[in-house]
Amino acid sequence: MTSTVPQGVAPSALARALDAFTAELGAAAVISDPAELRQFRDPYTYSESDEFDAVAAVMPTDVEQVQAIVRIAGEHGVPLWTFSQGRNNTYGGPAPRMRGSVLVNLRGMNRVLEVDTDLAYAVVEPGVRWFDLFDALQAAGGDLWPSIPDLGWGSVVGNSLEYGIGYTPYGDHARNVCGLEVVLPDGSLLRTGMGAMAGNAAFHTYPHSFGPSFDGLFHQSNLGIVTRMGWWVMRRPEAYAACWARFRGYDTLGEVVDVLRGLMLDRTVENHPLFNRGVDVDEQGNFHLDPDGEGWSARFALYGRESLVDAQYAIVQEALQAVPGVEVARRTFAGDDLTGPANHDERVQRGVPDMDLLDPRMLPYGEVTGHLDFSPIGPAKGEAVVRLEKLVRSVYARQGRQYVNGLYLSPRSALHISTTFFDPRNEQQTAAVYAGYTELLEEVAAIGYAPYRTNLQHMDQVADRFGFADHAQRRLAERIKDALDPAGILAPGKSGVWPAHLRTPRS
Ligand SMILES: Cc1cc2nc3c(=O)[nH]c(=O)nc-3n(C[C@H](O)[C@H](O)[C@H](O)COP(=O)(O)OP(=O)(O)OC[C@H]3O[C@@H](n4cnc5c(N)ncnc54)[C@H](O)[C@@H]3O)c2cc1C
Repeated sequence: MTSTVPQGVAPSALARALDAFTAELGAAAVISDPAELRQFRDPYTYSESDEFDAVAAVMPTDVEQVQAIVRIAGEHGVPLWTFSQGRNNTYGGPAPRMRGSVLVNLRGMNRVLEVDTDLAYAVVEPGVRWFDLFDALQAAGGDLWPSIPDLGWGSVVGNSLEYGIGYTPYGDHARNVCGLEVVLPDGSLLRTGMGAMAGNAAFHTYPHSFGPSFDGLFHQSNLGIVTRMGWWVMRRPEAYAACWARFRGYDTLGEVVDVLRGLMLDRTVENHPLFNRGVDVDEQGNFHLDPDGEGWSARFALYGRESLVDAQYAIVQEALQAVPGVEVARRTFAGDDLTGPANHDERVQRGVPDMDLLDPRMLPYGEVTGHLDFSPIGPAKGEAVVRLEKLVRSVYARQGRQYVNGLYLSPRSALHISTTFFDPRNEQQTAAVYAGYTELLEEVAAIGYAPYRTNLQHMDQVADRFGFADHAQRRLAERIKDALDPAGILAPGKSGVWPAHLRTPRS
């Protein structure tokens, strides 16, 4: 294994930075032992690879310590990589894009700072997990429901900054963000929107700004460390119905997408339907498709007063069952019924976090099972959805690889997630899976699509696809990067944006 000192940093400068971190935070909050650092590897890269190893991890407990860390890193030119819970599995976990970075582990900043039950929002520190937010909302009376992703162990802040998704009407998590506090690369502190005025009570209630709005700059970016986030949640409805549509075949898929899009645009269905092709993995790691792999299910939910949910369901049933071969079913619960929603599908659409989805995904190779998710975005039109689904299926078939899929519908866009499984202890197999991802990327780019989020290995390759006007968007990101972070210390390479001194010349 080669030294983990980051490229372009003198070992003496790194040593001085580590000493300064220790003086500032205390020895217990600075980890540099390689064995201890292994807990922060990307669990889904080849297990013996050192490509994304960190040199140290620091664990601040307040904003002032985050500011001190950034200032020390700037003084010594040491790259930092931030995570909030670091559960970004399949997109890198807690590991840094640039080898030798110092991890800023924010798990210790885990307070829910405020819950406003009248205005339906919470204010969280970065280490707050979905489990913690749920508990805080329950403690505040249970009148508020969070939107949550499939696994409860991640953070509200990290997930939302990555444009993460959930399954209630508030499932587009980046849109729930209202008012950020951010440590900038020079160590100064910014509050966005109304929060730019000290003491403004609309900080977490009005999402825009006086003048330009900067919140979007901190999503999937390397321009700051978010230390506080306002986050909108939904009011508990009187009733909630978990619904399913089942059907067969890609032609029907296209029709169901079109019907559900119409129901979403007219706001009969307000959450985000999730489609799956019939597939399962057994304890031997074998995938089971239904005989021809053509069986589909779509889950979605209805929320509101009981009479409204009944009326919405009648409309949905009529519209979906007009498509030949579609069956529709539902289970309805009172809004305050916590235990009735018994399975993961019912819980996740009601905002009750769990970890149930991980177990079946460990069957192929046990606890170490690696997943690689490919997640391109397309428009929410039946024809386009079917074309992209079939293309992805044909590439996996050519590679001889099996996968599970999830198609996440919004009123105007469709997120096509496919997951393939591998053994990260097997170098050849792991390399083949990542090479297969490159092929998927090329194939969908050829028809004009790209992922919304990616793993460490493919950040540059995905960024390369966004080439309009000679990569005008990336060049703008680089100009902002150079202005805010001239020493290039914050998350070099995140989303394909590198600081000037690490940028490779492009033709
Ligand atoms: C089986 C399975 C199911 C999944 N289901 C879902 C799902 O339903 N929805 C979904 O969205 N994802 C899903 N994921 C992906 C992932 O697990 C989640 O998105 C998870 O919440 C991300 O981890 P985190 O919240 O701990 O983020 P982190 O790992 O803490 O952060 C993610 C990234 O955000 C940036 N970042 C984090 N904190 C900060 C900060 N304070 N300031 C600046 N930048 C920061 C960093 O670049 C970091 O790498 C799933 C993954 C698996 C394996």
